[in-house]
Amino acid sequence: MEFELSEEHRLIKDTARRIAREVVAPRAKELDETGEYPHDIFAAFKQAGLLGMAIPEEMGGTGNGILPICLAIEEVAKYECGAGLMLVLTGLPNRPIVLGGTKEQQQKWLPGAATGELKSSFCLTEPDHGSDAANLETRATRDGDDYLLSGNKVYISGGTVADFLTVFARTGGPGAKGISAFVVDAKSPGITIDRTDDKMGVRSVPTAHFSFSDVRVPRENLLGGEEGQGFNTAMLTLNSMRPTVGARGVGLAEGAAAYALEWARERRAFGSAVIDFEAIQFMFADMAIQIEAARNLVYKAAWLVDQGKYTREYAHHLAIAKAYATEVANRVASDALQVLGAQGYMKDHPLERHFRDARQLMIVEGTSQVQRVVISRAMVDRTLVYG
Ligand SMILES: Cc1cc2nc3c(=O)[nH]c(=O)nc-3n(C[C@H](O)[C@H](O)[C@H](O)COP(=O)(O)OP(=O)(O)OC[C@H]3O[C@@H](n4cnc5c(N)ncnc54)[C@H](O)[C@@H]3O)c2cc1C
Repeated sequence: MEFELSEEHRLIKDTARRIAREVVAPRAKELDETGEYPHDIFAAFKQAGLLGMAIPEEMGGTGNGILPICLAIEEVAKYECGAGLMLVLTGLPNRPIVLGGTKEQQQKWLPGAATGELKSSFCLTEPDHGSDAANLETRATRDGDDYLLSGNKVYISGGTVADFLTVFARTGGPGAKGISAFVVDAKSPGITIDRTDDKMGVRSVPTAHFSFSDVRVPRENLLGGEEGQGFNTAMLTLNSMRPTVGARGVGLAEGAAAYALEWARERRAFGSAVIDFEAIQFMFADMAIQIEAARNLVYKAAWLVDQGKYTREYAHHLAIAKAYATEVANRVASDALQVLGAQGYMKDHPLERHFRDARQLMIVEGTSQVQRVVISRAMVDRTLVYG
């Protein structure tokens, strides 16, 4: 068992840390207020070569893997959770092509995504089907050499800036087996963005609501060239990206705890610094216990994915890391805010923003409840055995 980060890992972490401090942190408050997508932060990631980590070298990426992405996400999420999401989006929408695409599809779409020439979004959720994605209703119907795509996708992160979309749509009968995946040029006629959301947090990365109305998609854009593979590809994608959502939680918790600790050293009450009260010290101890546990779960989960272990029999490990780390983010953000008293509640400090941002993490890419469905299923069917 090896717990040390490699030289390459440290380099990536340091690079992300520099960008986090120099580019992300100064913009965090303003991004929350304006809700504008931060092209300058994307450009900084691009310049540092951080955009191709989830894409294998033979597909045009840098092939570092999911653990290095988690390290980078953790650093930037200390200051702004949306910057962490921007790095997640270098993996999530491209992963279906990595896992399920043909060589031609991989060569066509992934090198541009890896360099940052192309941005992409992952389109699974629909107005009536979120957790219950197996029953999605968006349809892709054969029309000569093409498909015609019609339906609605909602809450699509980064949708307003995406060049291409990975879209999951029904080509066959009901249930998971009738679903296929497509790569769709976001500028295709028939695609409209009906609205973006006025969100509680993570406001720097807009979520878009897409309508597809008879969008003509060439048959060559059917992922893997075979119908019926889409749901499996979506699940493997979500499984393998769970550590990256957890990493956003770990980073957010670390950032919140660090901010509150510095504040508690300065603030005085009853003639002493707030940090001298044992009740406050124990709150920090509880934050540290949870952060360390979450970080270890996330790194282990990322390591599993990098070993190719993200199929159903490993899904509970990935679900545990995602559920725990995102819930830790919420608890630590709340406790860190509490340490500041009234000031924590005010927008003069970043903690109320961390508190709002953390709430997103328990919902996206599988809610906390859905993670528990995965975990308990593994226990019931004896995949996860403690006895
Ligand atoms: C900010 C943001 C960004 C997002 N970005 C994207 C994106 O880029 N691409 C994309 O495709 N989607 C995206 N989503 C959608 C997100 O993945 C869904 O919101 C999520 O999967 C839950 O679906 P839902 O909101 O429809 O809730 P529902 O599925 O309707 O669930 C409602 C409630 O019921 C619970 N529940 C549902 N099923 C079960 C069950 N079987 N057992 C126990 N409890 C259950 C849920 O946990 C939840 O509490 C985003 C959402 C948000 C908020």
